[in-house]
Amino acid sequence: MHTTDICVIGAGPVGLFSVFEAGLLKMRCHLMDALPQVGGQLSEIYPQKPIYDIPGYPEVKAQQLVDNLMQQIAPFQPSFTLGERVAQIQGNAADGFTVTTGDGTAVSCKVIVIAGGLGCFEPRKPVIERLEDFEGKGVSYIVKDPELFRDKEIILAGGGDSALDWTILLSGIAAKVTLVHRGDTFRGAPDSAEKVFRLAKDGKIGLVLKSNISRIEGNGHLKNVHITDDKNGVSILNADHLIPLFGLSPKLGPIADWGLQIEKSAIAVQTTDYATNIPGIYAIGDINTYPGKLKLILCGFHEAAMMAQSAFRYVYPDQRLSFKYTTVNGIHSF
Ligand SMILES: Cc1cc2nc3c(=O)[nH]c(=O)nc-3n(C[C@H](O)[C@H](O)[C@H](O)COP(=O)(O)OP(=O)(O)OC[C@H]3O[C@@H](n4cnc5c(N)ncnc54)[C@H](O)[C@@H]3O)c2cc1C
Repeated sequence: MHTTDICVIGAGPVGLFSVFEAGLLKMRCHLMDALPQVGGQLSEIYPQKPIYDIPGYPEVKAQQLVDNLMQQIAPFQPSFTLGERVAQIQGNAADGFTVTTGDGTAVSCKVIVIAGGLGCFEPRKPVIERLEDFEGKGVSYIVKDPELFRDKEIILAGGGDSALDWTILLSGIAAKVTLVHRGDTFRGAPDSAEKVFRLAKDGKIGLVLKSNISRIEGNGHLKNVHITDDKNGVSILNADHLIPLFGLSPKLGPIADWGLQIEKSAIAVQTTDYATNIPGIYAIGDINTYPGKLKLILCGFHEAAMMAQSAFRYVYPDQRLSFKYTTVNGIHSF
């Protein structure tokens, strides 16, 4: 089991910045996120969009802000569990908490900070009979580790950036890659679409347009995928893996079952320190609600600073906290 001072659930911008504020006070953090990468909405939804309301940055691209945050927190050596959804929290402030993911990874901590944003991004699933039976047995909705697909036969489905990007990347790793898309043009970035058409033309991938996945089969593990198009009917392809990439929609998910006070799909907090109704558990960023709440990154950063000051008393109950500017104290890495 991993042991830390603060377990941060959600590695969006606010979860990332909380590592910095905690680190200044000598508290170590472990971050957990259901997505395979850090950055929350910024990396998942709008990485190349410019943001104009981050103090000190007249303009910064969302992914650049995430990269800068990673650089800023590096001295405090946070550890990460990515691609796993936190399913359960147990314990209390006196004895400590255990945070467990659906995959069984457990983290022991003194304080929990929920920075879960709009909740977990859950995959939009295509309607295919028995799809759930093959989840984890050939069907996956995120690519957590591309190496898992090395030398395998892969079918991807979708027409957005994820489908295009993973088709391009996996074409260099898998034995065979086929992309199935219901249209004949792509929603994703034009240069990625162009690359995919070129890979298909060069015979490096299969590209099946104006078609849908209609049926999947296997015996304990995925084996065949049926692809239906209006003109040619059904073709059956062998497949070790099917990766439907039809986007993600956020859902509060298991957070709603942890005994926290929930109001309008968000966690109610006090505005002095963003503590929840459970001692030792804080909620910061888009996941919380209070009178006047603004779902802005800069507000989440403020909440992270206030939270860290308050969390200190759980991590170091016998120590007095003296407030110091970074200009005075500098950054003391772990
Ligand atoms: C298109 C768009 C443009 C925007 N533009 C701006 C802007 O210009 N300025 C601005 O200030 N804000 C903007 N926002 C809002 C901003 O993105 C959010 O305020 C910000 O992302 C909130 O950060 P967060 O860290 O609280 O949550 P998020 O970024 O949502 O990250 C939360 C993370 O928690 C994870 N998570 C949730 N539940 C679990 C669980 N049970 N287990 C594991 N992980 C979990 C999620 O996977 C996610 O990665 C914009 C939003 C969008 C969609």
